[in-house]
Amino acid sequence: MQFPFRKRLGLTDRTADTRTDRGVMARTLMYPYALGGVLSLAAATHEPVRLGVTAAVCWSVAALLLAVYDALPDWAFPLLTALGTGLLLWTVYSGEGVALACAPLLVLPATYAMFFLRKLAALAIAALASGGYLAAALAGPASGSHVVVASVGIGAAAGLVGLQRANANRLIWRLSDAAVTDALTGLMNRRGFQELIETELERARRSGQPLSLLIGDLDHFKALNDRFGHGAGDRALEQLALILDTAKRRIDTAARIGGEEFAVVLPDSDQHAAYILAERMRREVRETFMYEPYELTISIGVATFPLHGSSVEVLVAQADEALYAAKALGRDRTMLYSDDLADSVPPEAGEFHRARSERHSSTVLALADVVDSRDRGTTAHSQAVGRYAAAIARELGLPEAVVERVRFSGIVRDIGKIGIPDSILQKPGWLSAEDWDAMRRHPEIGASILAGADMDDVSEWVLSHHERPDGTGYPHGLRGSDIPFEARILAVADAYEAMTSNRVYRAAMDESDARAELLRCAGTQFDERVVQAFMRALDATPEPGRLRLVR
Ligand code: GH3
Ligand code: MG
Ligand code: MG
Repeated sequence: MQFPFRKRLGLTDRTADTRTDRGVMARTLMYPYALGGVLSLAAATHEPVRLGVTAAVCWSVAALLLAVYDALPDWAFPLLTALGTGLLLWTVYSGEGVALACAPLLVLPATYAMFFLRKLAALAIAALASGGYLAAALAGPASGSHVVVASVGIGAAAGLVGLQRANANRLIWRLSDAAVTDALTGLMNRRGFQELIETELERARRSGQPLSLLIGDLDHFKALNDRFGHGAGDRALEQLALILDTAKRRIDTAARIGGEEFAVVLPDSDQHAAYILAERMRREVRETFMYEPYELTISIGVATFPLHGSSVEVLVAQADEALYAAKALGRDRTMLYSDDLADSVPPEAGEFHRARSERHSSTVLALADVVDSRDRGTTAHSQAVGRYAAAIARELGLPEAVVERVRFSGIVRDIGKIGIPDSILQKPGWLSAEDWDAMRRHPEIGASILAGADMDDVSEWVLSHHERPDGTGYPHGLRGSDIPFEARILAVADAYEAMTSNRVYRAAMDESDARAELLRCAGTQFDERVVQAFMRALDATPEPGRLRLVR
């Protein structure tokens, strides 16, 4: 039988269940010792020395167990059990009267060992008790068939207790697994989640690795229940659990922490990796339910240790806050926690949007830097695209506020590449068809990050910066004026920067060739007006390459 969550919670020692309480073990061992002392003394008239010594040892051990019972080290238990067995055998071996009648007491250490000790020690002591008795009795005057039967009896009693213990352990395991499992979805429940995240956070602290937490809440789930009934709601929850469970990595754990609220714990994951996984889950949910009678989407908040907080309570609160912001911004989106979220809970959406977009610029720019250095090894390229784009915008007479916005969007246009693996980004040579499919997602990923950061205008431009006036671009194949003007500016700035810098797959073109190429493709790949404006801006630059190099 599998107990999937026990292991996740770090409970791997099955024997621990019945062995955890040393106090109980010590007390249970004390009674037979005390009893042994009384019996030895009672029988001491026959063999005063031997039984007197036995009584003294028994009571000393009983007193010791009473005094230090829960401080006894692990190894003392098998040792004392073996000592008790030895004393009994010694007594029985004397072979007379009451001493001989002590033989059935050997069942005590044998069963004690089988119940409390680890398997190997338990079997050794049970074998010592039953085999030792057989040997002792056969060597003495009491040999006979009843000796064999008694010896087998001791072994059998020990065996039965052993089986009983195994059953009890299995039951305990099943119950404790059930206690942390959600009955409807089979995911971990809230209680298990609480335990798990404590354990994982402790592990992250020790290893110095990041840990991320996603909290997702279904959008307008009440409406689904109201319209299609609770049965349909429950099935949707089961389906959702399956999506989360499939999308996560093996080391991640998904939990249902509320009615329609889910959490995923991601060990060894920073905020970028967590964001990407969250987006994958969100997309998967949206795509799965697109074909159902009801559309169902999920909003997700992300928080990361140690970046956003270092205690479970803080991380959960922050993931929750990011989730709340995702809901406030229109649902069906993922939000990374940022300090700015705290005071930006929208009293009114309009004010919220404006204030947040300013505060988020720095975060987004930092993210763009990360992407640029991953993609090209430096952060200079994005800055150059920003400058080209701003120069074009200025040349076209756009107001200075828009010029700055265009510069910003030039810098962040490729932010969606955060979702593309290094193996593709840094591949020398040609990309395969699948690689291209992955690459082509970046405008959408970028747009969704920017929309989440409350920059709807920039988001729109970034989404369309690979569209072409002739309709052959992506992701939507927009044509001509359907493409936002600013996006057409980004396309030219981006292409020129790409042509004039060294890439993994080819060397840089010189500037006149790049200009000729832009002119050749004006009207098809690029907007003609934008290309012309760029030529003028370049001509107006006193030194060639100045735009590229100067901040
Ligand atoms: P929001 O986008 O703001 O999260 O809207 P919502 O309707 O999802 O949010 P709200 O928290 O108001 O409603 C949650 C609903 O989830 C209430 C209840 O109908 C439903 N729900 C909670 N637990 C279960 C469950 O176990 N089964 C079913 N079928 N529905 C559940
Ligand atoms: Mg809810
Ligand atoms: Mg909800």
